[in-house]
Amino acid sequence: MNAVTHLSKDAAALRTLHHDGLLQGEDVRALTVWQPWTFAIAEGFKATENRTRRTHYRGRLLLHSGQRLDEHVSIVRWSRDAASRLDQLGGRSNFWNARTAIPSRFHSPPPTLALSAVIAVATLTDCHPAAAGCCAPWGEPGVFHWTLSDVVALDKPVPCPGRQGLWRPDRAVVDAVAANLPGGAET
Ligand SMILES: [Zn+2]
Repeated sequence: MNAVTHLSKDAAALRTLHHDGLLQGEDVRALTVWQPWTFAIAEGFKATENRTRRTHYRGRLLLHSGQRLDEHVSIVRWSRDAASRLDQLGGRSNFWNARTAIPSRFHSPPPTLALSAVIAVATLTDCHPAAAGCCAPWGEPGVFHWTLSDVVALDKPVPCPGRQGLWRPDRAVVDAVAANLPGGAET
């Protein structure tokens, strides 16, 4: 993985979202992923989500960071670039709970480090059973690989509770997400 695959500021993806009038009347879904994996997706490093279940849904996906931080894995195992970026942003000590804490306006951690909030928008483009060596380095064996593209990180996290599996976000959450797209309608 290198800078070329760092998609969160992908101008083309952002233009597409705005051009489509993001989420206007769309039947979108959301997916809760534990940090720091949501971070890795939202920052554009991780394009494969490992799940035990197959999905036939294709389309816009809100990426929601779970309340819980996965303390038992080292992101450096999958991507040195992602680990470097995490270190640069303050690492694990900088994860914050968007539902209960408002970070200092002077020392605000980036939205991709929030817990329990929607932090990015992506498009779910594929789902396939893991094949030998596919979706390296993030794909794990023995599960389904959910392929994510056009990832755009929000300017501000949108706090809300997560759920298991694919879930339908409330309209208020969808509207808040649309308003917090980079260069969006937020005032
Ligand atoms: Zn795969």
